[in-house]
Amino acid sequence: MEYDKQVRIDLHIHSTASDGTLSPSEILNLAEKLNLGAIAITDHDTVDGSKDAIQRGIPDSVKFLTGVEISASCPPSFDFPGSFHILGYSIGLDDPTLNQALDILQHARKDRNPRIIKRLNDMGMDISLSDVVHESGDGQIGRPHIARLLLKKGFAKSMEEVFERYLGNGKPAYVDKYRMPCAHAIQTILDAGGLPVLAHPILLNIESDRLFEKLLGVLKEMGLKGLEVFYPEHSPERTAFYAKAAERYGLLLTGGTDFHGSLKPDIQMGYGQGDLFIPYALYDKIIHTSPLHSK
Ligand code: AMP
Ligand code: ZN
Ligand code: FE
Ligand code: FE
Repeated sequence: MEYDKQVRIDLHIHSTASDGTLSPSEILNLAEKLNLGAIAITDHDTVDGSKDAIQRGIPDSVKFLTGVEISASCPPSFDFPGSFHILGYSIGLDDPTLNQALDILQHARKDRNPRIIKRLNDMGMDISLSDVVHESGDGQIGRPHIARLLLKKGFAKSMEEVFERYLGNGKPAYVDKYRMPCAHAIQTILDAGGLPVLAHPILLNIESDRLFEKLLGVLKEMGLKGLEVFYPEHSPERTAFYAKAAERYGLLLTGGTDFHGSLKPDIQMGYGQGDLFIPYALYDKIIHTSPLHSK
């Protein structure tokens, strides 16, 4: 796996449309400043970040892929505790079916937020929905916004502690939300002209490589086109394993930092924790496979 290390890219970025802290315009400015060759804005369950970026105008030096990160549920025969997210690249942003599907996920988030807050209130923490809305601005509310508010109010000393004690999966203030069945998420992205990609495989918390490969086979049958091989939490060994698995299953290799601005302060756009290099060649390959060519 040898790549030209001249130009780096970042295909997993959150904006203020979800739980990132930079606006799409600020993200484009930073990508330009960092000389990133290509980026994608992949907000949780919304394409508003990508829409805003395009409306603002993409700088000539940065290639841009439209994107989204869909909260999905794993195939029925699999059951693992981690985050199952499907990225969609180069999607038609105005596709009505995609937008309807995202609306349902956004409603599920709106329904969940007061229930998380109720749990925190029952545990003696005095916060309200309007405090959280104030914290998140106009974008969609995610657990990181609630976590940051708890931090500000002194209920914990770090984001990790908030997730560990209250908001992480299975913790006392955790409330599950509706997730789109993965076959539906994959098909919806394909129908919107996009490329469905399995995000951050390390975060699935799958117990064995054998089971992971079985999952890839099932997802490939559903229409999956890529795997997020390059990711800050992937060790060099894991990256090599995921790259081989992607090649075995005929999947594109993608990569991104999952940049969230100051909500994940140790992650820098394009660099992860400093040593991540996602080569431009991956973008080239993606764009030549994509039915829709974005700028
Ligand atoms: P939500 O989409 O509202 O369920 O929130 C998911 C987001 O919360 C992820 O994208 C991460 O940014 C963040 N998150 C989830 N688990 C943790 C954790 N254990 N520590 C820090 N951040 C987390
Ligand atoms: Zn997030
Ligand atoms: Fe994710
Ligand atoms: Fe993400």
